[in-house]
Amino acid sequence: MAGILLSTELGAIPGIGLKFTARLKKLGIITVKDLLWHFPFRYEDYSRIAPIGELQINQSATVQGTINQIATRRTWKKNLLITEAIIVDETGGIKAVWFNQPYVNNILREGGRYNFAGKITGSKREIYLASPSYEQIGAMGRGETKHTAGLIPIYPETRGLTSKGLRYLIKPILKSLDPLEDFLPEEILKENKLPALNLALKRIHFPLQPNDAESAKKRFAFEDLFLLQLNNLKIKTRLAGKNALPLAINQDKLAKLTGSLPFQLTDSQKQSLKEILADLQKPRPMNRLLQGDVGSGKTVIAALAAIFTAENNLQTAFMAPTEVLAGQHYRTISKIFPNFSDGIALLTAGKTELTPAKISKTLLLKAIADGQVKIIIGTHAVIQKGVKFKNLALAIVDEQHRFGVKQRAALQDQENNELANQPIPHFLSMSATPIPRTLSLTVFGDLDLSTITELPAGRKEIVTKIVAPENRQKAYDFIREQIKKGRQAFVICPRIEPGAIKEGEILSEAKKKALELKSVKEEFEKLSKKVFPDLRVIMLHGKMKGKEKDQIMKNFQERKYDLLVSTSVIEVGVDVPNAAIMIIEGADRFGLAQLYQFRGRVGRSNHQSFCLLFTDSDSGNTRKRLNYLITAKNGFELAEMDLQIRGPGQFLGESQAGLPDVAMDALKDIQLVKTARDAAKEIISNDPEFKNHPLLAKKFEEFQKAIHLE
Ligand code: ADP
Ligand code: MG
Repeated sequence: MAGILLSTELGAIPGIGLKFTARLKKLGIITVKDLLWHFPFRYEDYSRIAPIGELQINQSATVQGTINQIATRRTWKKNLLITEAIIVDETGGIKAVWFNQPYVNNILREGGRYNFAGKITGSKREIYLASPSYEQIGAMGRGETKHTAGLIPIYPETRGLTSKGLRYLIKPILKSLDPLEDFLPEEILKENKLPALNLALKRIHFPLQPNDAESAKKRFAFEDLFLLQLNNLKIKTRLAGKNALPLAINQDKLAKLTGSLPFQLTDSQKQSLKEILADLQKPRPMNRLLQGDVGSGKTVIAALAAIFTAENNLQTAFMAPTEVLAGQHYRTISKIFPNFSDGIALLTAGKTELTPAKISKTLLLKAIADGQVKIIIGTHAVIQKGVKFKNLALAIVDEQHRFGVKQRAALQDQENNELANQPIPHFLSMSATPIPRTLSLTVFGDLDLSTITELPAGRKEIVTKIVAPENRQKAYDFIREQIKKGRQAFVICPRIEPGAIKEGEILSEAKKKALELKSVKEEFEKLSKKVFPDLRVIMLHGKMKGKEKDQIMKNFQERKYDLLVSTSVIEVGVDVPNAAIMIIEGADRFGLAQLYQFRGRVGRSNHQSFCLLFTDSDSGNTRKRLNYLITAKNGFELAEMDLQIRGPGQFLGESQAGLPDVAMDALKDIQLVKTARDAAKEIISNDPEFKNHPLLAKKFEEFQKAIHLE
């Protein structure tokens, strides 16, 4: 196997047949590199050779013995081919069984000595080794083994390609591969006690002890985190070199504006505003993430920044991920600042308005291009090609994690712009989903952070209850009572009714939507006709047009309805202060962060609010998970919990889906994230262009390409 490179295609290696390469391809494995970077996801510990006489049911074990009988037969009932062998050592004998692998019979010989590794199954009466992996041992004993004794890597598999098959492929390739160059600088490896590439690669596939596997994994996770951090710092440095339009902030005006608000800003709202305004006065672009618990009042802070931008005769684009939210921001901001005379625009795919009236899209676009409109609120439509600003100075993005990195780049990062020296907008993003610390340090690591830490005064804690099926009627009575007192209620339906899908079925997006719709429609029928025929019930779902959804929200805000039955489209940002009851059907089917978001739709005024979690599940785990919602002190604590339970995917949404698995996993490890960040900082400050680290320079370039392509 000479001359193997990472780029060598597996098909070109003698001994790897077409059948194998086709199966490997299904796992995305084409080259040697793909194969070697196909990491085990766990290890089976077969380190001890167990005496056959001492085997216990359910144990994973390696036994060493002689085959004294082997045969294959067909069971007529299930039409299975069963190969059975009797293995004996000095302490006893055990049966090994393989299903539909008749070739085993041709490989294992009666009288031969082998290691067998597998799980002991069966009943109290008779135990056997189920489909064990096996390998022959020489006359001298154990020798070097790939499949049995020691820690056995278990890989993500595909049909017809077992972990055993993969191990069999990987071992000789690893052996004949020339040592690889490590792009991680030696001093970084040393400082962080990480194994060098060649060793790590060997040990991640064939660890001698559990520690080996751990530190090898850590090294690969570190790689990704490190590159992510380098990327963040690079963006940060590049943006720091750009120009932005500095604003003049008039302190009297500031006092007057905040004084005219219908409420007093909280201390941390004031602090965040101060940080934001300080950035805006600089000729360098702001890059800030405004974080705060649900209902902490981020919108008004962002709106104040927009007003000051307008005071400077400059424009602000204020973007939300959905038409519902864009419409809501538009209404809220117009209401909070009724004296703002310049006009505030709403621009979405379905709707164009300029306070106080509707306006045609053509006219609105013209007013934006003329610089006549200063504050433009909308969806993605705001950054579509046809929209030309006269002097865009501030871009605000609500719910950044849903919005995606690309849109942000479209707004701000005009590297390819022919007028590279032109000022670029200040950038403020907001996130209502509290983000675990690891994520804010990595995925949003290029942003400065402002955090609103408290809720406005007078907010009452939301009473949260898990409601078992037998208490449903009581809950309905309670809801009616609350509504009669003047409150409004949300009912969130699970995406999919239990039982609507078969176990293990994978649904297309379209089918998911269809089931979601069915579920919300059924609930709407039931509530409006049977349970609350005396109340005004309306429904909202994702299949509706944005315009229609926005209208329904507007009507609900204006208290034209008592009860809004909705799918999860309601999730983010919706603000109806009079709504004080949140009912979540099938609560067990949602993640904690999402439930938290739903609950955050109530408790937005001084009314006592309630969140009722309906669940049919009586599993202890479900209850425990839902209970976190009751006990967690704040959104951040809950976010950390959810990160541990369900991984980072849900926080990042689709926008970050390109992150490699090890990196996703590493995002749970705050220490490693910090280490990677420090290491990246050190490199950037000593060798910003990677002149002394050519391998790193090359790797970084590849990494950047990969994340841009995704
Ligand atoms: P979020 O931070 O979740 O986006 P919003 O900005 O939607 O929250 O604000 C939630 C509600 O609280 C809004 O109705 C808003 O007008 C109100 N609000 C904001 N700041 C304060 C405050 N300091 N005191 C009282 N109410 C406030
Ligand atoms: Mg919000």
